Amino acid sequence: MRTDMFIGGKWTGGGGTTFSTRNPATGEVIADLPEASKSDVDSAVAAAREAFGSPEWAGMLPAQRARVLFKAADLLEERAAEFARLETTDQGQPLSISAGFSVPNAVEHLRYYAGWATKITGVTTPLSVPDVDHRTRREPLGVCGLITPWNFPLMILVWKLAPALATGNTVVIKPAEQTPLTTLLLAEVLEQAGIPPGVVNVVTGGPEAGKALVSHPDVVKISFTGSTAVGREIGAEAGRALKKVSLELGGKAPSIIAADADVDAVIEGNLMSGLLNSGQVCAAATRFYVDRSRADEFAEKMAGAAGSMKLGPGLDESTQLGPVASLEQLEQIQRYVDIGKAEGAQLLTGGSRADGHLADGYFFRPTVFGGVGQDMRIAREEIFGPVLTVLPYDDPEELAPRANDTEYGLAAYVWSRDIGTANRLAHQVKAGTVWINMPPLLDAGAPWGGMKSSGSGREMGWDAIEAFTEVKSIWTSLA
Ligand code: NAD
Repeated sequence: MRTDMFIGGKWTGGGGTTFSTRNPATGEVIADLPEASKSDVDSAVAAAREAFGSPEWAGMLPAQRARVLFKAADLLEERAAEFARLETTDQGQPLSISAGFSVPNAVEHLRYYAGWATKITGVTTPLSVPDVDHRTRREPLGVCGLITPWNFPLMILVWKLAPALATGNTVVIKPAEQTPLTTLLLAEVLEQAGIPPGVVNVVTGGPEAGKALVSHPDVVKISFTGSTAVGREIGAEAGRALKKVSLELGGKAPSIIAADADVDAVIEGNLMSGLLNSGQVCAAATRFYVDRSRADEFAEKMAGAAGSMKLGPGLDESTQLGPVASLEQLEQIQRYVDIGKAEGAQLLTGGSRADGHLADGYFFRPTVFGGVGQDMRIAREEIFGPVLTVLPYDDPEELAPRANDTEYGLAAYVWSRDIGTANRLAHQVKAGTVWINMPPLLDAGAPWGGMKSSGSGREMGWDAIEAFTEVKSIWTSLA
């Protein structure tokens, strides 16, 4: 396990204070890590700036850069079991998620962007000017700050890191203070894969380290995933400094269950959409719109299925739902459940922290509320935990306006056997991603990001290449 920071190709303990990361399944401290000071962040940015212009990195040919990223993917895959166990220990997600989804997804992202490294083209343009030739080229930006959240630490980091490196940038990473361990281990893998010193740097710590990175004048771009509140602050700061910024923020995804949907058949997909990683998923379905004639039946079946899921430590392979990532998160979930009860929603299952042999960990019992009103806070605010709300509707014409009656616009789900209804709703809903008749899946080729307060910019696909490059316009006289 790595616990030092990685700056300029060296592992360093920093000079200041430390903080602890805990195993959310037990509440025990796993490791103490350095809290990066402003001067640590300065050193990391200086190392990244020097590496950006270095012959080892700037002079690396696209095919060589691709090979380094392919090698990193291979090394990560070879150590997949180790990474999965570490992610589960630090974050809490069951091994079925870390080993079955998080680590393989990170490997695939590295390979996908390794492929792009040799295909980042410009265009030649037919200008209406005599005797000139015009072309564009895409150039890397410089030092990019990558700031990540605690729900999928490794995977979300690689969504940023792989395109940033494929396009020739250098980076300073600031992982979430709750879950820094797989980020540090990935730095070791990148070093072994042949990434030159200073190209990838990791500083550990909390919001102050993040702020120092955002305000550093030599950081030209911030790619942030996290809460909408922090995203707003970062967007404002980056805007004042005219830095480029990508923001992947919170969500409150609706799941629209049309009257013709087969309720039994859609329960499983909706449970997965709502409770994956104990609901700590930005795209988690949390507002279920169900025809009033079927709403009680749907809510009771959801409650029955959710209530029978096996809660336990992520390292236990029979576990279906792990703990939430921190005590603060557990307390936030309890606060929202209490608000829902006070607002008059009907608690059908769950509603409290698990006790007995799980009492020391941060386990919250899967919770379903029925009879939820559009204006209740539990239906409007991001809870980020295993709390599902069922909202009855009377007229299908209400569906798109009610689904859109939120500040968020990250993801939405539509369930209908009628292809016209399903696609019409998919067009009407304001969300960056819509899944029709399926649980949430991701692929490096499919653009990912939010509308409205869920963020700006897109990750994945060619969009991420654009997000980490600038276009230069080159004119040549033919006269
Ligand atoms: P958070 O905003 O509290 O923290 C995210 C990161 O920002 C952490 O590394 C934190 O240390 C850092 N940070 C905090 N304050 C900062 C500041 N003022 N300046 C710079 N950095 C700062 O988010 P979180 O609680 O770790 O993550 C949960 C949130 O992330 C949820 O809202 C969730 O919806 C969102 N999320 C979004 C996506 C997406 O793709 N849209 C994916 C995952 C999570």
